[in-house]
Amino acid sequence: MNTSTIDPVIEDIYSRFKTAGIEIDRNKIRSNLDRLLGYKVPLNEASRTVVTMLRKEYNVPFDAFKPGSAGFVPIASLKEDNKWVTIRGKVLQLWEPKSDSISQTGLIGDDSGVLRLTIFAKSAEKLDVILEEGESYELRNVVSSIWQGQISVKANSNSEIIMLDTDIEVKRQSVTVTGIITEVSAGSGLIKRCSECKRKLTKGNCAEHGRVEGVYDLRLKAVLQDSRQANPPQTIDLIMNAAIVEKLTGISLPRAIELATEALDTAVVSDMIAENVIFRYYRISGTQLSSNFLVDEIVPVVGITRQMATDAKNLVSSIEVS
Ligand SMILES: [Zn+2]
Repeated sequence: MNTSTIDPVIEDIYSRFKTAGIEIDRNKIRSNLDRLLGYKVPLNEASRTVVTMLRKEYNVPFDAFKPGSAGFVPIASLKEDNKWVTIRGKVLQLWEPKSDSISQTGLIGDDSGVLRLTIFAKSAEKLDVILEEGESYELRNVVSSIWQGQISVKANSNSEIIMLDTDIEVKRQSVTVTGIITEVSAGSGLIKRCSECKRKLTKGNCAEHGRVEGVYDLRLKAVLQDSRQANPPQTIDLIMNAAIVEKLTGISLPRAIELATEALDTAVVSDMIAENVIFRYYRISGTQLSSNFLVDEIVPVVGITRQMATDAKNLVSSIEVS
């Protein structure tokens, strides 16, 4: 076990006992952890076992360990890999996890910044909380991680997630782009999400919860051809939630359900949305996060002539063939 992995855990245990008024020798924590790790016990389990053992030895009541030990930090100050921290933020967006080992993944922000958050499936049951978009949470004892230059936090079975009554204000770095929507991507229109974890259902099935009834949601994923001069031309993957889709196309979630029910087919909704937006020119503001651009506002740019739109369309098709 390399020390950069074990040291934060020792520090965590040390500070938890210190908060409870007990100073434990770090070497004692280390040797106990080392012993368990020698038996190939996973680090988080070893950590729990050592804490339980020491708590018994020093007669520390469980309550003395609340609140969590890892220091509270503003999101933007998180720059190091593998650091135990506590953050408070609002969940801005949740995505369908690409792997069954992940229970939930999305973006969380506070008044300093935004970062990605992941909850592993094996910790989800113990954490006993399902994050919801728009709700604010305190995430205690989560671990920072850097991958491809992007910082994220991961909740594990030593973490604790508490929903807050307050609404945390989020600072977003808003960007404005202009361009033409050239494609409505798969997964757009009327979709069903699992009512438990908000994952998008595939043929009525949630990857985590199996066959569920699900709840309808409306969204648009689209490709924008950025109008800024660039070679090769840049495209941006836009994501719009139900409120933005309604503002943009006039199709509300209830109306989308109605349309799909009448047509006995949900595809009718994405077709109608596509008709509304494809090859139109827009000014869009939002946040670029990972490979997605989360749209806050989208306004058609009026005055663009049909000829210009046709030129753009031709340009795009010529790019696609080349
Ligand atoms: Zn589910």
